[in-house]
Amino acid sequence: MNSIKLRKNNLCIENISLLTLAKKYHTPFYCYSLTQLKNNFVSFKNTFKSIKPLICFSIKSNSNLFILKELKKIGSGADVVSVGELLKALRAGIKPEKIVFSGVGKTEEEIKIAIKKKILLINAESESEVNLINKISKKLSKKTSIGIRLNPNISGKTHKKISTGSKYEKFGLLYNDFINLCKKVKKMKNLKLEGLSVHIGSQITDIEPFEKVLSLLNKLLKKTNINFKYIDLGGGMGISYAKKEKEINLKKYSQLVKNFLKKKNIRIIFEPGRIIVGNTASIISKVIYIKKSGNKRFIVLDVGMNNLMRPALYGAKHQILPIKKTNKKISGEIEFVGPICESSDKFLNQKSFPRIKEGDYVCLTHAGAYGMSLSSNYNVRPMIAEILVTGSKHRLIRKRQNLNDLIKN
Ligand SMILES: *Cc1c(COP(=O)(O)O)cnc(C)c1O
Repeated sequence: MNSIKLRKNNLCIENISLLTLAKKYHTPFYCYSLTQLKNNFVSFKNTFKSIKPLICFSIKSNSNLFILKELKKIGSGADVVSVGELLKALRAGIKPEKIVFSGVGKTEEEIKIAIKKKILLINAESESEVNLINKISKKLSKKTSIGIRLNPNISGKTHKKISTGSKYEKFGLLYNDFINLCKKVKKMKNLKLEGLSVHIGSQITDIEPFEKVLSLLNKLLKKTNINFKYIDLGGGMGISYAKKEKEINLKKYSQLVKNFLKKKNIRIIFEPGRIIVGNTASIISKVIYIKKSGNKRFIVLDVGMNNLMRPALYGAKHQILPIKKTNKKISGEIEFVGPICESSDKFLNQKSFPRIKEGDYVCLTHAGAYGMSLSSNYNVRPMIAEILVTGSKHRLIRKRQNLNDLIKN
């Protein structure tokens, strides 16, 4: 599924043609469908309705304040990985009792703020972190609710740079260390052990790794007899980036979780990111130059790896489509690249593509997750605008960065 559709030879997002937007706003820019965003969240919620999980949207996947406010309105909590994300979640109106804090490197300052704000759970990832949370809580005369992150040593069968669940990764505590730490926490006066969290990676399209996690959790619960109030299963549900690509079977996942919960008095937390925002946005970009080099044709876009890092960072593929349909084609070796001075600043290779010329517009689809949130000012280039569409209306939800602000220091 995708938020853009072809109508009378024009690609449209909801009821507006991308060409209309391209003429109105400075390219490149991100363009979101609000209807798609809401549909994704509500559909996720409905799929798991029988177990009523707490859904904490993973803010690192997209931290636009307007998007966070919309998700808050339809019941979302937040999964944050820094104090910046925490403050943004609060600013969007998300209640502290719907916020969980993950990450291997929380600083003393970050922990202090999380405790003072009384968030639902700080998910600790090491014994040292647990000790620090206890020490700060004592100083502040508080009893802090924490979760501990388990490293299940289960591979998410995904790209190695977004896999987090194996014992070779820095995340969480291995099975035996986890159990030993739980025992220690029970004796700490300023901590309340309420949660177990686990997140094995991102863009997982196979159900099997999730199944393995649940059966490991069953074993752990039986063995330890710890009464966790919450089990936080993280996010990681994979989407399809192109037609016919596999995506996670959420229905199956919900059945597995439902079976897992039988005879247990536990509330499930999910931290979905990509599956909520991934397909909600496209980047609209202009073809600056078309350059022939030997047998190859480079199509130089005005969008760069600083705006969409996933292809360079993970070898991810985003479909590129001309925003006006034509039946004529070009063929040969075609490579879409950006303007950044790095060889890895490239998006896609094609053997054929609809005929396109300099000054035409294209869109890069499925860019809503880990798109804007991963962008940078590399090459002293401004962060680009974000536009949101609802029906026939469009509005700016983040201004393109001003060059004058960029050159100050
Ligand atoms: C990144 C992350 C998520 C979100 O992952 P998605 O693949 O976007 O669903 C959830 N939980 C934690 C701890 C994360 O680091």
